This record gives sequence, structure tokens and C-alpha cells, in this order.
Amino acid sequence: MRDILYLDYAAATPVDPRVRETVEPFFHERFGNPSSLHAMGEEASHAVQQAREIVAQFLQCRPDEILFTSGATESNNLAILGYARANQDKGKHIITTAIEHHSVLYAARALIDEGFDVTELPVSSEGLVDPAQLTDALRNDTILVSIGYANNEIGTIQPIREIHHALAKRKIFFHTDAVQAAGALTLDTGKLGVDALSLTSSKMYGPKGVGVLYVKKGTVLLPLMYGGGQQRGMRSGTEHVAGIVGFARALEISQQEKEHESQRLTSMRDRIIIELQRTFANMKVNGSREHRLPNNINVVLPGLDGEALVIYASQAGLMFSTGSACSTVEQDPSHVLRAIGRSEEEANSSIRITLGRTTKEQDIPRIIATLKDIAATLNVKR
Ligand code: PLP
Repeated sequence: MRDILYLDYAAATPVDPRVRETVEPFFHERFGNPSSLHAMGEEASHAVQQAREIVAQFLQCRPDEILFTSGATESNNLAILGYARANQDKGKHIITTAIEHHSVLYAARALIDEGFDVTELPVSSEGLVDPAQLTDALRNDTILVSIGYANNEIGTIQPIREIHHALAKRKIFFHTDAVQAAGALTLDTGKLGVDALSLTSSKMYGPKGVGVLYVKKGTVLLPLMYGGGQQRGMRSGTEHVAGIVGFARALEISQQEKEHESQRLTSMRDRIIIELQRTFANMKVNGSREHRLPNNINVVLPGLDGEALVIYASQAGLMFSTGSACSTVEQDPSHVLRAIGRSEEEANSSIRITLGRTTKEQDIPRIIATLKDIAATLNVKR
């Protein structure tokens, strides 16, 4: 295979060498269990506490408002199932959107069997939630609203602060899945006005298998797991110390470098979109041009099969994805692309290219030339 050009940063990111260096000792000499009373246990417990404080600093919250989980799937499930189950005496109506990640959407839908009502708000053709439409959907028994900060497929960024204002006078728990926003946007929970926020390390150059759920102090959640009572009984199980330390370091780097990196990625993103438009006259951009993650390019290339493009491109060394790489088990066309009004055919002709720290301006000609060559090959075959 030719040199690999990785263009799937919304699916996975490599571990930053600075993160790897920070976590290394926790696999060897500093392997103690944070619950042990001896010095090695204390050392591990201190490392977890320190990581909690670093995360809290970037989320502008208290350290005891941070729970470490196995990733955003668990964080989202804990926020939605945990809150709904613990607070159902206040009401049984939940609002989310039609474009959420399945770890939000399916968790909410699972509550229907427990007697909850779930409203899945539609979005605009750009993938934006309308705060006024949210206000209209509120009911006296609405207890929970979960709306993703930035979409993993089309990169649309939601007006989280405005959504908070739409809920402000009501005591409704507001959760956001901020997984894709971590490298580009503020995670200040006070500014955003959220009561809960999910993150995962594997999308911000940290190790896989570790996530965070911020939950505002005073919130009652029912745990998903019972056991040794770690993390104040909210999330039993021995803490993944190396992962947690790596998460904190990865978040620190991502947040510190977000302005500079976002500028760099935005300029490459826009150049790629322009060059794709030149190459494929009938190309359409999926998602918002204005409210868009700096690293996300998601386009319809009419008449071409997205899956075939991904496979041929992979053979040429380019790694990108069709709709969402997190749900390859799903056979149906992307629910996100369908929700923004794309036809099944258009959804199947869509590809997602997501840029990251190793992407360089010099890579752009290769991306365009490879896609052009593959399109020519596929057109001949049709
Ligand atoms: N939420 C979003 C927006 C995602 O993109 C992903 C994964 O791609 C998840 C949640 C799930 O994260 P994890 O795989 O860490 O459980």
C-alpha cells in the first residue's frame, strides 16, 4: 500500500506522544489500585484526583462534578438513563434530536419501554436545532433535554447557549454530548449553561476506553453499575488510572491548542471543499457552512457510491469514511443525512473526510487527485 494518509479523525485519533509519555509509568511502576490503603494505592488515588482537577479546570466546574467512565457511550447512557430513572417522579418526557449519536438516541428510546415519552426534534437542512421549536416541544412533564454540541457526521455546531436560554426558566436537566467539540470549542460548562456534558478520550488524542461525564452538583442519578462504590457510588469499578491520567493530559493539550489548530484546520477544510466543488460540479455539502467543526468535510458526490469510494481510496492509502464510522454495523443510510433531508441515494453517495493534527496543506492535491481518479474508474465501471 502507498503511504497512508489518515483522514478519519472524527472516528479515532492517534495518542499524542506527550500523552503517551504521561501515561507510561502507570502501566509499570505506578500500577496501584486507587482504593488500596497503602502508599501505592494512595499514589494512584492522587493521580486520579489530579486528573479530575485538570478536567474540572477546563470544564470550569468542581472536581467532584467529574465522573470517569469507559467512554462517551457510557457517559451518554449514564446521563440519560441515570437521570430519567432517578427523577421520573417529576415527569416522564424527554427531548432529544433526530441527529444524535446512537448512544444518546437509543438510550432515550430504551426509556420508552419504561413508560417515558421521547420527542426527537427535527433539524434544519443544515442540521441546526431551532431553540424556538424546542420551546414549543416543552411540556409540564419534560425533565430532560439532550442535544449534541457538534455532530459527528456533518460537523454542525449547535447553539448550546441559546438552547440553554430556551430552557432557562424551567427546571429541566440539560445534557450535551461534547465528544466532537473538545478540540475546537469551549467546554466551559458555566458559559454553555449545561447540567451534564459527555466527553471521550479517543477523539482527542488520548487512549481509547476512557470518558468523562460532568454532572452538576446536587443532581441525583441512578448508577448503571453496582459494585465497590467507587466514584461516590455513581460509577463502581476500579478506575482506569492510566486512561484517566491520559484523558486529562489529552484534554489539556486539545484545549490549549484549540485556537491555533482550529484556524489551521478551517483553512484546509475550506480549500478542500472548494477544490472538490471544482472537480465535482454537482457536489453538495452536507451540514452548515457557517456553524461547522473546523475539521469536518461531508459531501454528496452524486452518482458515486460512497462505500466504493471509501474502499478504493483505502487501497490508494487514503483513510476516510462514508457516513459515521462509529456505526458500521448499521446497514441503513445515515439517520443524520436523512434528517437533514438527503435522499437515500444522496446519503449513499456521501463521504466524510475529517482532518487532524497530522494533516498538512501539502496533502490536499493528493486527496483531490485520488478522488478524481477513483470517480473516473467508478464511472467507467457503471
Ligand atoms: N458521541 C459522539 C458524538 C461520538 O462521535 C462517539 C463516537 O464516535 C460517541 C459518542 C461514542 O464514544 P465512545 O466510542 O467513546 O463510547
